[in-house]
Amino acid sequence: MIQQSSSSYPPNQPSTWQQALQQLITQPQVLLNAVNLQQQELSTQLTERLKACEQFPLRVTQHFVNLMEKGNPNDPLLLQALPSPRELELTPGYSTDPLEENSHNPVPGLIHKYHGRVLLTTSGQCAINCRYCFRRHFPYEDNRLSNENWRSILNYIASDDSITEVIFSGGDPLTVSNKLLTKQFIELERIPHLKRLRIHSRLPVVLPQRIDTSFLQLMQNGQLQKILVIHANHPNEIHPLLTEKLSLLKKAGVELLNQSVLLRDINDSAETLAKLSENLFAAGVLPYYLHLLDPVTGAAHFDIPEQQAKELVGKLASKLPGYLVPRLTREQAGVPAKVNIAPLLP
Ligand SMILES: *Cc1c(COP(=O)(O)O)cnc(C)c1O
Ligand code: SF4
Repeated sequence: MIQQSSSSYPPNQPSTWQQALQQLITQPQVLLNAVNLQQQELSTQLTERLKACEQFPLRVTQHFVNLMEKGNPNDPLLLQALPSPRELELTPGYSTDPLEENSHNPVPGLIHKYHGRVLLTTSGQCAINCRYCFRRHFPYEDNRLSNENWRSILNYIASDDSITEVIFSGGDPLTVSNKLLTKQFIELERIPHLKRLRIHSRLPVVLPQRIDTSFLQLMQNGQLQKILVIHANHPNEIHPLLTEKLSLLKKAGVELLNQSVLLRDINDSAETLAKLSENLFAAGVLPYYLHLLDPVTGAAHFDIPEQQAKELVGKLASKLPGYLVPRLTREQAGVPAKVNIAPLLP
């Protein structure tokens, strides 16, 4: 709900991150207008785009739109947010639950797939709906976090002392209030076998204002080590405001990592990936994973075949120090870790 009239809060200048989350762009026409593409052939495919929105709604922040190059239908950031007619294609081998997460869901809101760490889907919301997202068909409704579910999650973690790390994932875990996060962190701090709290979020990238004073405080407090994994796919996503916020997180003692998804026409060149790693490191962030696309229905047009991906990362490895080369990774149902794929050196 937009509480203020749009005249007092122009949509491109929301004054708080909460307001910015209320003012997401959700209509293809509005997004196309915002990047000066309303006259293009792009808007003639509106019917298909709207149909794609029915499967997975359009959502994007004004901040992310500001980073897009105006008048460029192939802008790598635009392509991540704008629903494509190609999402309606059905591709053999692609499914709605490619990682079989639904079978590792012992408690609503908790996925326990790998030894030692559990992943919480404490929020079904995102500030951007990335068109390639493997959770685009995830039944968040069944995983909405009630107090009762949170109790069950705490009990589950407390009763298994092999669990040392709790991962807040999503949806986007930073769409919830600092107040709720603080309560959850404090309760997790009481579980003696836990060592680390990790947050996987795209909010820092699409809405850097989210990293506010009380969030910084929360990340600094407590005994558990904190890790924040941001999610940037392209060097154009690293805005100076993000860099500033990341340096504050670093000062607060947070370990900063990045994960990307390898995406056709977005970041499928060694030059782009090298620049991304360089920009990230300049902002205090180490590259962690470069994921091959999960075969989720509606995203096949983003796929890069494994052989090409290996060559690409091989090229990258021949340009950069080892610590700037992300691990090329594939998720595979039924195996105990994400599968690392060796780069093919030129
Ligand atoms: C990716 C993932 C993790 C974390 O894996 P790491 O290799 O530790 O980054 C944990 N649980 C689930 C379900 C995951 O998909
Ligand atoms: S879960 Fe992550 S990748 Fe998926 S839509 Fe949300 S922000 Fe994008």
